[in-house]
Amino acid sequence: MHSISPAETTALNWLSDQHNTMFEHVQQWTSINSGSQNLTGLSQMSHILQRAFSALGEPKLLAPTKVDAVNANGESVPVVRGHNLYLSVRPQAPVQVVLAGHMDTVFGLDHSFQKGRGIEGDRLNAPGAADMKGGLCVMLHALKAFEQHPAAHELGYQVVINSDEEVSSLGSAALLNEVASKAHLGLVFEPAQADGTLAGARKGIGNFTAVVKGRGAHAGRNPELGRNAITAVSDLFVELGKLSGARDGLTINPARVEGGGPTNIVPELAVGRFEVRVKQHADSDFAMGEIKQLADMVAKRHDVQIDLHGRFNRLPKPLDTRQLELFDAVKLCGTALDIPVMWQASGGCCDGNNLAAAGLAVVDTLGVRGGNIHTSEEFMIIESLCERARLTALLLMRLATGVISVSPKTPS
Ligand SMILES: [Zn+2]
Repeated sequence: MHSISPAETTALNWLSDQHNTMFEHVQQWTSINSGSQNLTGLSQMSHILQRAFSALGEPKLLAPTKVDAVNANGESVPVVRGHNLYLSVRPQAPVQVVLAGHMDTVFGLDHSFQKGRGIEGDRLNAPGAADMKGGLCVMLHALKAFEQHPAAHELGYQVVINSDEEVSSLGSAALLNEVASKAHLGLVFEPAQADGTLAGARKGIGNFTAVVKGRGAHAGRNPELGRNAITAVSDLFVELGKLSGARDGLTINPARVEGGGPTNIVPELAVGRFEVRVKQHADSDFAMGEIKQLADMVAKRHDVQIDLHGRFNRLPKPLDTRQLELFDAVKLCGTALDIPVMWQASGGCCDGNNLAAAGLAVVDTLGVRGGNIHTSEEFMIIESLCERARLTALLLMRLATGVISVSPKTPS
């Protein structure tokens, strides 16, 4: 094991002095509502981040790509997303890293969780504290510390902070893909578990909408003329539910039905939304094939039309040898800093999936330690701000000096 060098010590000690600054950042950032749909809040947040990250270079705010969604009437309509922050530093350096995070949260303006209860012992309860405004703060300060190292010129990086991660990153997927094509490895600042456990393998996810078009009719006078879209979508959901477990780790969650109307009319339209999660790449093709077949079968059975929308927008991230190499490198840095590093497979997905699908080795839970994310009980463990920034800073310094080497990328 490599002990910590004097140059590393200088940068790490600087970080230890940043505790108050970091904590103030997180308190300020979590006081701004930046739900994925709150474009005003996202704009405010993006400008604050732009100022904060200008300490490292010249961050730009890039417009999202166009995103469509199926509405409750079964029509494909454009949805607006926020801008994404992008920063590139030393693109010619021999080692290239992507650091990614998101500024959006799952808590919109209509959610009751707006300010949180604040400090509670060693924790902060605030919306997005762990997921992931704390993580953004870890990323920023790890980079600031890294820049103090004399070998910093050996490593260049791109920072992407998107505004739609919590709604599948459709407006930023192209940007993530593009930055990944120019890098060797990816670091994402999603929260680790409260005890520090990182997410290892991740499942892939697809979000789908079935638009079922039947035929309206008077429910009393001539129901036989109608084709009930609600009955058909219910049947489809029951059939889809049976697919769960057809492959190891394959789950289908029929989640929402919209449509129908007065009880005296046979409903002619139903919109059914569901998600599918898989462990292996091949399982997404398998699931896709099964879903199409079931939709055809149900359409015939009920004499309705079923149009499927959606796709696997995040592919699985299995822990292959190259991924494990990077996890081992993080672990070695942890050992040098007395930070235990372990990992566990997760059913959840994040932008780490996108970066891995583009061919990068990725560790995607380098943010703060915390828990209960996506609920009003979300918390960040305050002392983990410095701790996790030290971990990433040391990793970056060792990548720059070559103590940790990067394997060539797999073709994407
Ligand atoms: Zn997150």
